[in-house]
Amino acid sequence: MSESALDAVITALRRLPGVGVKSAQRMAFHLLQHDRDGAEQLSVALQRALSAIRNCARCQTFTEDEVCRTCLDPARDASLLCVVESPADQAALERSGGYRGLYFVLMGRLSPLDGMGARDIGLQQLLARAAEPAVSEVILATSFTAEGDITAHVIADTLRSRGIRSTRLARGVPVGSELEHVDAGTIAHALHDRR
Ligand code: ZN
Repeated sequence: MSESALDAVITALRRLPGVGVKSAQRMAFHLLQHDRDGAEQLSVALQRALSAIRNCARCQTFTEDEVCRTCLDPARDASLLCVVESPADQAALERSGGYRGLYFVLMGRLSPLDGMGARDIGLQQLLARAAEPAVSEVILATSFTAEGDITAHVIADTLRSRGIRSTRLARGVPVGSELEHVDAGTIAHALHDRR
């Protein structure tokens, strides 16, 4: 027997992080009973995003163009390349106002248990990008979690073997933190005190 249309919505909503059966049911009932326009809006927005959004050819972040606006911005300091895990972390660094360089977005972090390896985070692309003559410093701003630390170590070692200098955000950021949840002032300090 195939899944009913309602069950298909609930199954789809459960793919979102932190959403269990009960909340998925509540969301599905809400959309179908009280907010059909909202359901339509959600459906159209997702369809549009799926066909329009891809990864920047330079930094891997989300963009609707071949190369994102940040990478193309001539006002950016091209000597600095900051490595972050996600577009959300990139946004957190931007909010801190303390950084005017460019980015490389890993779109994940090394995590053997989740099957995330060097290829999945674009390590080769990062090496090529960091080796460009304009880059004088690579700043590792992966999260201060066990996996974020390991990712930073692996990248630092690989860069060092190619003679490329890297620094790590200072430990002002609480251990176990995703950057996106850290306040702007703390990030600005961690950037300033990087080693
Ligand atoms: Zn870019």
